[in-house]
Amino acid sequence: MLEKLILVLNCGSSSVKFAILNPLTKKKYVFGNVECLFLKDTRVNITINSKIYQKKLPNYTDHFHALSFVFRFLKKNCFKYYEKIYGIGHRIVHGGDQINCSIKINKNVLEIIRNSSIFAPLHNPANLIGIDISYKFFPYLKNKNVAVFDTSFHTSLPKRSYLYAIPYEFYKKYKIRRYGAHGISYSYIMLKIEKILKKSRKELNIICCHLGNGSSITAIKNGNSIDTSMGLTPLEGLVMGTRSGDLDPAIIFFMYNKLGLKIKKIENILTKKSGLLGINNKNSDCRYLEKNYYNSQKAKLSIDIFCHRLAKYISGYSSLMNGKLDAIVFTGGIGENSFFIRKKVISKLSLLGFHIDEHLNYTVKENKNYFINKKNSRFILVIPTKEELFIALETQKLIDNK
Ligand code: ADP
Repeated sequence: MLEKLILVLNCGSSSVKFAILNPLTKKKYVFGNVECLFLKDTRVNITINSKIYQKKLPNYTDHFHALSFVFRFLKKNCFKYYEKIYGIGHRIVHGGDQINCSIKINKNVLEIIRNSSIFAPLHNPANLIGIDISYKFFPYLKNKNVAVFDTSFHTSLPKRSYLYAIPYEFYKKYKIRRYGAHGISYSYIMLKIEKILKKSRKELNIICCHLGNGSSITAIKNGNSIDTSMGLTPLEGLVMGTRSGDLDPAIIFFMYNKLGLKIKKIENILTKKSGLLGINNKNSDCRYLEKNYYNSQKAKLSIDIFCHRLAKYISGYSSLMNGKLDAIVFTGGIGENSFFIRKKVISKLSLLGFHIDEHLNYTVKENKNYFINKKNSRFILVIPTKEELFIALETQKLIDNK
């Protein structure tokens, strides 16, 4: 029988990630990315069956030309996989407050993605280019493109957590509200944790921390997102690599009124120059900061502020769970890899009944046993997220259900 493969596309603001995989066997045959779109050093990295290809593209290449290059390259260099693609899954960053599940792409869906661009101006237009170019290269799969949204996991948020305490008309007229993000990652974690804890989704009460360059945390009660730290945009919430997360909005007035900074400049400071990078003024990479924790006060401060805020969020969210909390889950580049951060954060949460087992925490990656808590503790788990696999599974499900 012909193997059926899914092409997954994730078009970011300045990068594109792609993969060809079999959702049934979970085997990933091809994956890669294009880095530095619209910049000087645009380049493509493609791995086909563990063989790595690296190509330089013309400077300032855009999404359309980068993806055209990638698709032509795949057709030429791995036709045996290319020809087996029978569906295309697109990661869509923002679907507004209407779409609560993955969906086959048609004119209506395109319109919703277009209309939601106002809240994800760097991402949704890029996602639309990804769809457009898929139609061009795979015209025979036109009705087999599926949109998987980062916002749909959070459409269960109750009004009390998604509304901001600003005049109500901003919500009514302009849809200013919390939408959240990282929903694809949270959805995958829920699939996985159902199996690990042997409970159905609606029995699960979890606080999940997705910690990467972008970080967020979500309170999941009876399987539903009931609060999440990212807001109208992914700028709110935890301390991130270069994003500030929560701050007093009056800081913006100060920068504007007293320092005379333009709004574009302030946006640039809060999204690209703040967070871990802003505090230590050198590096946003958690590995660098951990390495320098004991010999650089600023590196120490960056990590301490990160952990302080994360612990505060976890404690706050625990009060929303009606006394039922099965586990804290760590995922994302930092959540999966940094035993140092996990230890620091959990050490602040003993009042809630969380105690880390240092050995399990240190070895969880190689042992793949998920659990890092002591016996007398509530569960603490480390689960590697697999957003591409989740997109492929959703795509396959929708295509096969016709
Ligand atoms: P993104 O939000 O861009 O998807 P990732 O989930 O890839 O980000 O996470 C990137 C972060 O993970 C970086 O801060 C990086 O330093 C951190 N990270 C990766 N590996 C390790 C490690 N072994 N120890 C500590 N931090 C790590």
